[in-house]
This record gives sequence, structure tokens and C-alpha cells, in this order.
Amino acid sequence: MASRVLRIGLIPGDGIGREVIPAGRRILEALPASLGLKFEFADLDAGFDTFKATGAALPPRTVSVLRGECDGALFGAVSSPTSPVKGYSSPIVALRKQLDLYANIRPVKSVRSRNPSSSAASAATANPVDMVIVRENTEDLYVKEERTVDRPDVEGGRYAEAIKRISERASSRIATMAGEIALQRQKIRESAAPSSPASIHSRPLVTITHKSNVLSQTDGLFRATAHAALADPRFAGVAVEDQIVDSMVYKLFRQPQDYDVIVAPNLYGDILSDGAAALVGSLGLVPSANVGTGGKDGGDKVFAIGEPCHGSAPDIAGRGIANPIATLRSVALMLSFLGEADAAARIDAAVDANLAEGELLSPDLGGKATTEEVVQDILRRL
Ligand code: ATP
Repeated sequence: MASRVLRIGLIPGDGIGREVIPAGRRILEALPASLGLKFEFADLDAGFDTFKATGAALPPRTVSVLRGECDGALFGAVSSPTSPVKGYSSPIVALRKQLDLYANIRPVKSVRSRNPSSSAASAATANPVDMVIVRENTEDLYVKEERTVDRPDVEGGRYAEAIKRISERASSRIATMAGEIALQRQKIRESAAPSSPASIHSRPLVTITHKSNVLSQTDGLFRATAHAALADPRFAGVAVEDQIVDSMVYKLFRQPQDYDVIVAPNLYGDILSDGAAALVGSLGLVPSANVGTGGKDGGDKVFAIGEPCHGSAPDIAGRGIANPIATLRSVALMLSFLGEADAAARIDAAVDANLAEGELLSPDLGGKATTEEVVQDILRRL
């Protein structure tokens, strides 16, 4: 059987990105040959350290190699200075825009662990969670059109403002993506083996997030456009509701089991997914994929960048204890968007087995294992 060759860009970035992205490469290389996949890799730079060394946070070569040569990519993390640094702006935000990776898909699911002292196991007992946050990735406040105005002549003086841009096109395509994911999840639930644990959801549901009671034009447009997109007859089997973001946060923490697929503008999606990560025990478990059609060959071919939801974690960087699971699950997510569901399922199963046994867990989950020990255990299970 001829193998499919996938060329994957590797962008470790800063901090623990440099510790977890190599694990992503190793799991791809360790996939069984019977899956018929071969991988080539392109090492690419981006991040705050790259900016300090070269003056560019996202070197043009990184974008041109991704666009011209790669089928997908893995992105680690970038440090984000909290006060402005002249000339620096987040390379992942720029990359999402330049490659038009319009959807950021963030599945958040409780972990089943036989180790009762792991933070993941206690989180799962308190609040079972199985949701996907579908975050719009190209606009909202992330258009980064900000300015500071000095008005010594008026009371209050100096102020700053930012543009929040919401378009019909972006809102419609992200809601459509959410509807498709809801249908896909229902299909997987229906085809699950009778022996597998019962899902906490019985029907597909999309919840549209907004704050249109205050932002009637921007969030009003998002809400109305998302409803219109989800009214398409092919989503007839999907229940659709909408919810104001603040009440949603409250319910998310009290009844997370009520959410199946959440669709949100960029900023709310970012905040909700970090909060949801707390419900499953650690940010170190939660993957994401940036998805669009902006890669090699152009056209409609899907391009996906797997990216753990966590940041560069400066507090633990360089200590060899970062949890690699968010990255390994991001590899699986990237593969599933590239049409390789079997390979993705193999990786997820190996990760699930590591967590279920709960013997080799990293410190964020209450264990003592190093990144290397967790990676080796998962590779063995693959
Ligand atoms: P950045 O400025 O790069 O966004 P941050 O300071 O916001 O970084 P995160 O990387 O988002 O921090 O991490 C938040 C907390 O979660 C930190 O205490 C960090 O150590 C922990 N954490 C994040 N990712 C992991 C991981 N993979 N393994 C273990 N702990 C993690």
C-alpha cells in the first residue's frame, strides 16, 4: 500500500513549547506503519525569543514554508509580555490571520482515572465534562486596532480604545463549523460500541455565546448570523440555544455537563476555554486545533495547526515537568482534521490508557513523573 506523506511544520515557540513539541514529533514518528502514513518535518521559528534574536516574532520564512510546503503544523506556545514591547505582537494571532485559520477548536473532556489522588479524577467526579468550544479565530478584539488618545484639554485626559469587529461572513462560517462538529459528535456517539462508557449527551446541541444585551450591534450580529447559519436544514437534528456570556460562565462552572458544542466570538471563546480547562483538572490536558484552508495547494484543502491551549508556562519552563498531553491530543486533533481519524484515535487511546492507569502523571495532575516519563509511557501504549 502506498503511504500518504504528510509534511508537518514544527514551531516550538517559547517556554514549555520547546519541551512539548518534540513529544508531538515523536508520537507521529511512532505511529504504526500499518496506518500507511509517513511524516516529514520542517523546523520553524516564531515567538518572543525569536523576536529578541531577530526583530521578527513571525519570520516571513515560517509563513511561506507553512503556506507553500506543509499539510499541517504543531505550534507550542509564545510568551506574552503583559506590557507593550515596541514592535512585538503575538505571532500565533498573526499566523491565524495570515493563513485564514478561522476556527479554533477546543475539546474539553473529563478524564477517567483509577488514581483517586489525581486532580483529573477528582475533577471528573465533581463535574463530568464533554464539550467542544468552537472559537472564532480571526476577528473580534483580536483585530488589534487599538489606540491611546491624549486629551489634556478634557476631564479624565488620556484614554485608550479598541475596535471589536464582527463580520457576517466570519460569524456564519464559525457557526456552520459548530453545527458540523455537533453532527459529527452525535454520529460518533451513535456508533460507539455498547461496551464503551455512556456519553453524558443524548442529543446534539449548539450554544451560541454573546453579550448582545450590551453590544447589540457587534454581538447582536454574531448571535443573529449564527442562528441563521444553524437554521440550515442540514442541522435540523441539532438543538440550538443562545446564552449571554456572563450567565454562561456561571452555568459552565455549576452544570458543565449541559454543554455539548459552544460557539463563541474570539475573546469569549478564549476565556471560556481556559475556564473549562480548570474543570478537567489541568490546562496541561487541553488541546486545540486552528483550522482553515490556508495551507499548501490553496483551494479547499483543509489546513490545521495543532496547538495546546496552555501558554509558555514560564513558572515551570526548563524543569522537564510540563505535561505533554495537551500537545499529544493536539497532534490527534490536527490529524483528524487532515482526514486521518484512525491515527488520531490511536493517539487518543494511548493517552487515555496512561491517564486511566494514573501511575505516571505529571505534577499538574498530582503525580511525580517528568515530561519524558509520561511521553515514554504513552509511546509504549501506542
Ligand atoms: P503565557 O504568558 O505564555 O500565556 P501564562 O503565564 O499565562 O503563560 P500558562 O502557560 O497559560 O501561563 O499556564 C498557566 C498555569 O498552568 C501555570 O501555572 C502553568 O505552570 C500551568 N500549566 C500550563 N500548561 C501546563 C502544562 N503543560 N503542564 C503543567 N502545567 C501547566
